[in-house]
Amino acid sequence: MADSSAPRPTRHDIAGDRIPVLLYHSVSDAPHPAIAEFSTGIGEFAEHVRAIAESDREAVTFGELAARLAARDHARLSGLVCVTFDDGWADNLAAARLLSETGLPATFFVTSGFVDSAAMLTTDELRELAALPGIEIGAHSVSHPYLDELDDRALTREVRECRQWLRGALGFEIDSFAYPHGAHGARVRQAVIDAGFKSAAAVKNAISHPRDDIYAVARWTVLEQHDAGEVRELLAGTSGQPAWSGEKLRTKAYRAFRRARRSIRGVDGGLAGDEDYRSHEERANGHKFLDDKNDAVSSESIEGTASAGDGGDG
Ligand SMILES: [Zn+2]
Repeated sequence: MADSSAPRPTRHDIAGDRIPVLLYHSVSDAPHPAIAEFSTGIGEFAEHVRAIAESDREAVTFGELAARLAARDHARLSGLVCVTFDDGWADNLAAARLLSETGLPATFFVTSGFVDSAAMLTTDELRELAALPGIEIGAHSVSHPYLDELDDRALTREVRECRQWLRGALGFEIDSFAYPHGAHGARVRQAVIDAGFKSAAAVKNAISHPRDDIYAVARWTVLEQHDAGEVRELLAGTSGQPAWSGEKLRTKAYRAFRRARRSIRGVDGGLAGDEDYRSHEERANGHKFLDDKNDAVSSESIEGTASAGDGGDG
């Protein structure tokens, strides 16, 4: 029958269909310089947590969100919010305690090769974090490369060995993955599926929705300048662009630019080709990470926007 007889969506329905998946990195008043732009102050984060708790939304872990997306259970996909953290910074344990004490589930994606290195979680802290009620641990690769630049063998190792290391350290299966720098594409996505992950988080700086791709769920990066007011607007559904499907063209163009720049510089990005894995400690050193984060910053200026898209952060 004519559409005019159907009830028009209300503002509440539209807001309920939007699923903000917040991406934090560090919560600190003295963040590591490599992550400062992506860091939230301790007092400010407490305000963000209050905004999330006071919203009408149900907070779920990333794994729970993905399970509901996979089931296409529309009724249980309305009015959700998801809090995620990437990288495994040492300050994430205190942030996780606050979330857990507030009754807000959250997911922490950990770069396994960074554990036990300076400014990052120790293995003991990671276990403590994982034991908090409502907290899920996800994988974020071994050494935080741009996965789309690796050959198949290195790509497989980055994805599988991270999962294996976390399972060995924590004693349970890891089902969720987050692409470092948000960099993904069909080949990377398939490698994550083949490794047994049930879902994966992208970046996109956009709002997820009930028909989102469970292997490229859109997230919204929380930057240093984002205050609780902006988080409240996001939760109310009055700000933030909806997610697109697939990679943006500019992301593909930026991948080509990254490769060209590295070849000019003679820098291969760390784990490309048949290069043997270095020791755990060497892999975990902060310099490699600093390089990556500088890349993230420069990607934003290249793209001329604070929204770095899939090639930017994460
Ligand atoms: Zn990351």
